[in-house]
Amino acid sequence: MSEQTSIPADPELDPTASYATDQSVIRRLAGLLRASAGTRTTYAPATGQPIAELPLSSPDDVLAAVRSARRAQRGWKNVSLADRAAILLRYHDLVLDHRHELMDLVIVESGKARKQAFEEVAHVAMTARYYGRKAAELLEPQRRSGMFPLLTRAEQRFVPKGVVGIISPWNYPLSMAMADGLPAVLAGNTVVHKPDSQTPLTALRALELLYEAGLPRDAWVPVNGDGPTVGGAIIQNTDYICFTGSTKTGRLIAQQAGERLIGCSLELGGKNPMLVLRDADVHRAAEGAVRACFNSAGQLCVSMERLYVADQIYDSFVTAFLDRVKRMKISAGTGWDVDMGSLVSKAQLETVTRHVENARAKGAVVLAGGKPRPDLGPLFYEPTVLSGVTPEMECFDNETFGPVVSIYRFSDESEAIERANEGEYGLNASVWTRDARRGRAVAAQLVAGSVNVNEGYGATFGSLDTPMGGMRASGLGRRQGVEGIRRYVDPQAIATQRLLPIAASHGIKDEAYAEFMTGALRVLKKFGRA
Ligand code: NAD
Repeated sequence: MSEQTSIPADPELDPTASYATDQSVIRRLAGLLRASAGTRTTYAPATGQPIAELPLSSPDDVLAAVRSARRAQRGWKNVSLADRAAILLRYHDLVLDHRHELMDLVIVESGKARKQAFEEVAHVAMTARYYGRKAAELLEPQRRSGMFPLLTRAEQRFVPKGVVGIISPWNYPLSMAMADGLPAVLAGNTVVHKPDSQTPLTALRALELLYEAGLPRDAWVPVNGDGPTVGGAIIQNTDYICFTGSTKTGRLIAQQAGERLIGCSLELGGKNPMLVLRDADVHRAAEGAVRACFNSAGQLCVSMERLYVADQIYDSFVTAFLDRVKRMKISAGTGWDVDMGSLVSKAQLETVTRHVENARAKGAVVLAGGKPRPDLGPLFYEPTVLSGVTPEMECFDNETFGPVVSIYRFSDESEAIERANEGEYGLNASVWTRDARRGRAVAAQLVAGSVNVNEGYGATFGSLDTPMGGMRASGLGRRQGVEGIRRYVDPQAIATQRLLPIAASHGIKDEAYAEFMTGALRVLKKFGRA
């Protein structure tokens, strides 16, 4: 991989000089946390340098956070929907205005490249705009068909759950922190939120902007600390859990939520397949595959870890793909020209290294990459392409969550679909073809919560009006779209009966009433009522 270039750190863009390391900013943000259980230092993955010593929360702090969020919810749910929506629309503008600060924080805390940090800014702004604009359509009470025309007036209301607990991961520290909470507060809930303890500053600055947009402080209370203790206290005390993270943790959370009989949405892992059909534009597909496989160093739940390429174009696709991979700029620099940054943690580096070494030892061929790059930073790993991966290898069907993709050849399209559908996951998939209609037909046969045609993940991720989430072990529930907000409310039916009661009355015998009802039901079916 000597062709891969590293950019020497630009002193003006160096993370140590950014907004994210301004100590007065850090003190101000740390002050937003409900935390009294000591401190922990966080480190910048790309450089290994300390970022901040941040306060940690205890289970008692979580309890206090839930109590104040619960008190706040009583008033917040009565704020008019229009006023709540206006806060989201103001937030849209504030996020865009403060994008550079937010990107600095994302880069320093997660180690990702600037262009990928911008995706998070755009996603949060778009989410705020989408829900801000759709508030009335999604949340105002709706008239529904009553039992009898004219006699039964029925409507459906949407009652907020109460206090929503949000537990978010480090890999999209801005987007995953905010995008799930915005619909929760819009729906009249308040939030207690635990961002991952590697990336709390990003979440705190984003939250500070939401307060500036008009959200009351106690309507979204942040806490900081480890998953089992602080996350566990959130699960035990809130009314609904929105979790994004690994399938392993998701299973634990589902059990705990089940015991309490509260709802949860779980956005979990994937082993996402991309199908490059024989009529695909090879160069566009190769370009798209680079972004889809190596964005955020592959630490993206919807990134591609399996490429299935049609026999007829396999060689030209592999040549075009490897050519681009080898020209990628990987670096700890913070400029726009960096294509891939660092992994986030030692644990991630160990998993990536283990998956590649295991595959290599069992006979896989390393077509590109294949080793750590300590010369660039302590946690860098090269974008890696493997061929000859078989079911005995660890990376065959386990999520790597790193910059490693396995490439396979296929000759029969239905067999490729079958192979893409193997495994326990079903999060995201991608299909490349010049015939969009055919692409959509293939997409409909894939077991995945989202499928992108001629794109890796961005088309569905950015289409806020569509639901996003996983099938099978990739999750429960959906973010985005109607489903992304309705998960936070309990639908309530209110029906008012007029004139005639729904039972035999006025001296009519039960049997006669049953005959009358039988006739009425037949008439209602004939005239098309549900
Ligand atoms: P993780 O499950 O270890 O941690 C995620 C969050 O859960 C963190 O805030 C962590 O502190 C908390 N947590 C951990 N154990 C907990 C417990 N027992 N109780 C309560 N909270 C707990 O996941 P991770 O490894 O940090 O994140 C990467 C994983 O997340 C990958 O598998 C990735 O695919 C998945 N992910 C999925 C999506 C999606 O939308 N489907 C998005 C991003 C990441």
